[in-house]
Amino acid sequence: MRIGVLALQGGYDPHARTLACFPEVQVSLVRYQAELDSVDALILPGGESTTIGKLLVLQGLWEPLRKRISGGLPVFGTCAGMILLSRQILGSQQLILGLLDISVERNAYGRQVESFEAEVEVSFSPERLNEKAPAVFIRAPRIIAVGPQVTVMAKHEGTPVLVREKNILAASFHPELTDSLEVHRYFLNQVC
Ligand code: GLN
Repeated sequence: MRIGVLALQGGYDPHARTLACFPEVQVSLVRYQAELDSVDALILPGGESTTIGKLLVLQGLWEPLRKRISGGLPVFGTCAGMILLSRQILGSQQLILGLLDISVERNAYGRQVESFEAEVEVSFSPERLNEKAPAVFIRAPRIIAVGPQVTVMAKHEGTPVLVREKNILAASFHPELTDSLEVHRYFLNQVC
């Protein structure tokens, strides 16, 4: 399985290192369309979502990426990556892919210095409910609404923080900055 990590800006390296823990995975950094075309699944990392959006346009990746995800490419967006996938951002006109039926509010958990770690309870399947997992929130977006096709897999203080809609998985936190491989394992085994 060749798993890409979009590597235009932000925290792509910790995702690449997390994926390297899975022997069945070949990790590819994605910066050009040929690289995008060659992957079986893709991670959109955290970072700065307006910057990543602009770089996607500059690299000519915006439309190819939108088409591949619409066509079923398994994709996992964390933080800024989740913002890019979302359908709506509160009070912002920035470019988004609009493929995941959630509304988000950027930076809603406070500023960079207010970043925090928390334990969240993730329901991976009906057999694996409420498993504790560590979560790092860095200037995180808050999910303020989810559409009817979206499954909420984890909440933090009542707010969804890990969601899935078909081939799209998204987290407002960073599992790649913790010791737990479980969210990536779920992506590889159940979404891909
Ligand atoms: N604050 C960033 C944004 O709005 C997201 C932060 C992150 O990816 N850790 O784009």
